[in-house]
Amino acid sequence: MARNYPGFVKKWMYVALSVLIPLGLFAIIFGVNCAKEPGPVVASQDIEADANQAAADANEQLEEEQKDPNEKKLLRPDHNHPAFTERIDERAEMVARQIRARYVKDPNVLKAMRTVPRHAFIPLGGQRYAYGDYPLPIGEEQTISQPYIVAFMTEALRLRPKHKVLEIGTGSGYQAAVCAEIAREVYTIEIVKELAKSAKERLKKLGYRNVFVRAGDGYFGWKEKAPYDAIIGTAAADRIPLPLLEQLRPGGRMILPVEGTFGFQHLVVITKDKKGNISKKNVMPVRFVPMTGEVQKR
Ligand code: SAH
Repeated sequence: MARNYPGFVKKWMYVALSVLIPLGLFAIIFGVNCAKEPGPVVASQDIEADANQAAADANEQLEEEQKDPNEKKLLRPDHNHPAFTERIDERAEMVARQIRARYVKDPNVLKAMRTVPRHAFIPLGGQRYAYGDYPLPIGEEQTISQPYIVAFMTEALRLRPKHKVLEIGTGSGYQAAVCAEIAREVYTIEIVKELAKSAKERLKKLGYRNVFVRAGDGYFGWKEKAPYDAIIGTAAADRIPLPLLEQLRPGGRMILPVEGTFGFQHLVVITKDKKGNISKKNVMPVRFVPMTGEVQKR
C-alpha cells in the first residue's frame, strides 16, 4: 500500500536506498569470493610435486630391483583393503602440514605416510583423531607415536627397497607398515602378547605380506633373520641392547630412543661402517614409553 510521505522523508529514503543497494551488492560479491577462497595452494602444489617425485623414484627403484633375477619374489603390500581408500585427504594434509613442514623430505617416506591408513591402527574410540599431530593410546598402556616422529625415524633409516628391517616394539603395527611400504621385509617384535597378536592380525588383514610379527623381548633381536640393513626401536632404554648392535649389517643404520640422566630421552642414530665400527649421534629429544624386559635388569 502506497503511503504519502512528506517530501523531505522521501528525499532521505532515496539517499539511503542509493547507499544501501550498492553496499548490499558489494557484500554479496565479497561473500561469494570469500567462500571461493583457495585452500593452501602451496601445500597442494607441493603434494603434487611430491607425488610426481615419488612416482619417478619408485620406477627407478623398480628397475634397480629387476636387475637381479636371482632375488626371491618380492612380497609387496597389496593395498586391496578398503581402508586405503578412506581418509586420503586427511593423510595428504597430515603429510603437508606436520611432516613436510618439518623438513622430512624423503619421497618414499612421504609416499608411505600418505598410503598407510593410520586410522586402521587405532582402537575404534580414537580413530577420529588418527591424523592429529600427537601420539595416541593403543591399549595396554602403550601409544602409537606422533606421525611426524614415525616419518622422522623412518627417514633416518634411509630405507631402500632391498632392505630388511628389524623393529623393536610393534605396538599397533603402524611403524612396521610404514617401513614395509618401502623396504623388502620387516621383522617386528612386541613384548606384550595381546598387542603382538592384534598387530599381526591387523597387518595380515591390511595385506602387509612382508611384515613378520613375533611376541617376545626385542632386547635379543631376531637372530635367525639377521643381519638387518636397518633397526628401529620404538621403546626407550638407558642403553643400546648389544644383540641389536651385533645384528646390524655393516653399512646399516639404527635409530632408537635412549634415556639419559634425569630421564631425558634422545633419538640416537647409530651407524655401523663396513669395518664394523659403530658411531652414535643424538638427533632429537623425545618422550617414548619404556623398553621393558631384559634391558631393565641390572
Ligand atoms: N611402533 C609402535 C608403537 C610402539 S610403543 C606403533 O607404531 O604403534 C612401544 C612398544 O614397545 C609397546 O607396544 C611396548 O609394549 C613395546 N615394548 C616395550 N619393551 C619391549 C621389548 N623389550 N621388546 C619388544 N617390545 C617392547
